[in-house]
Amino acid sequence: MVILEGLSRVAPWASARAQRRLSELESVLAGQDAAEVVRTVTGTLGEHRRAFDEEGVVLYAGTNTMSPRALAVHEAAVSSRPSMGWPGEKFQAGLEHLDVLETLAPLRMASLMDGEFAEVRLQSATLANLACYTAFARPGDTIAVLPEAAGGHASHHAQGVAGVRGLRVVDLPYDAAGFTIDHALLPGFLRRERPAIVVVGASLMLFPHDVAAVRAACDEVGATLVYDASHVAGLIAGRRFQRPLADGAHILTMSTYKSFGGPPGAAIVTRDEELAARVSAAAYPGLTANYDAARLAPLAVTAAELAETGPAYADACMAAALALARALQGAGFTVAAADLGWTASHHVAVDAAAFGGGDEAARALAAGGVYLSGIGLPCQPPGEPMRGLRIGTQEITRRGFVPDQMGAVAELMARILIKGEDPAAVLPDTAALRRSVTGGR
Ligand SMILES: *Cc1c(COP(=O)(O)O)cnc(C)c1O
Repeated sequence: MVILEGLSRVAPWASARAQRRLSELESVLAGQDAAEVVRTVTGTLGEHRRAFDEEGVVLYAGTNTMSPRALAVHEAAVSSRPSMGWPGEKFQAGLEHLDVLETLAPLRMASLMDGEFAEVRLQSATLANLACYTAFARPGDTIAVLPEAAGGHASHHAQGVAGVRGLRVVDLPYDAAGFTIDHALLPGFLRRERPAIVVVGASLMLFPHDVAAVRAACDEVGATLVYDASHVAGLIAGRRFQRPLADGAHILTMSTYKSFGGPPGAAIVTRDEELAARVSAAAYPGLTANYDAARLAPLAVTAAELAETGPAYADACMAAALALARALQGAGFTVAAADLGWTASHHVAVDAAAFGGGDEAARALAAGGVYLSGIGLPCQPPGEPMRGLRIGTQEITRRGFVPDQMGAVAELMARILIKGEDPAAVLPDTAALRRSVTGGR
């Protein structure tokens, strides 16, 4: 049979690669009755659980597994009950029990993240960033963000919610070799561009930002400084890496499910009551009406746990990252930022140019049960496809992996990418390594 492009019913506008996959699935899945759909979905969830939770070595930086106590309080039934408005004046009567969650979660999040106020109702960090753009900028204003090659997230850029808000996006001056903002150029740049908002924080964060220096430059032009802690929130909760709000960020936005290890969703934290009130109004009734109160139970539990175990967890994540960077270098990989000590976080970046780029390399590793993603590297020329592989050690740390096992992880990756072994032949060894690690935190 000849498969023609443009035949996907789900997304006939998608890329050729996506359409091939979609149309292959569509031909099997179309026309199932309810019982068949239930069987299909149940089987899919089981396969996914086995591949990722039981037999996968998950090095994807934007993921995690919730703690047993957080998982135990995540109740799907609560998600289907709408909740709208502040405790004490809910649109719906009789939600006093949920008021407890809605009070506990922001209290715990605000203190854990070093702030005074936390907005926890938004479903994603993308929406958290949009809430900030809504509160602190008007359409036509300028926003200065990290370049995409330096990990600037889609939600900072024109194709994402900065564009949705109608903002003019400019890239902050960046020192690619130093993996940092170019602080010599920053003050003059901000005086010229006059942004309403400056966003630091990115999808690859090997090293902390000099937040105090960025804040000083922002103050000269009256810009609001947003620190997007989506990836490093778990380290900050553990009082490691850096303290963005103490160092001068006006606002911290974050994903609650990456290194933080809570349920999917977002938080926005600040020490400033006036800024908090504006963000809150942007969140509700601006960007949400009813919100998912079920998230707040595992969020409160995760925050309470991190207040106790966060320092040890953050230390373990960072020790694993350093050990893995060293092991990968030893196995023949080119690890980014070698002259800077590779990493000061739970992230590691590998130059994958020799393996066809980050996406190709990630696909090969996935076939061997090692899951991660591509990432742009700051040194790559504009237009080159993502050249790096991004690794995060937060999930394997929670699963119970320790630095001594990073040599074995690097060896799996080297067998597939450097020695060119068939990933299918490596897969059983990946599963065996994963199954040998038990008793995570
Ligand atoms: C993942 C990420 C986001 C978006 O988070 P979602 O919850 O997926 O919307 C925003 N900013 C940065 C830097 C991220 O890495």
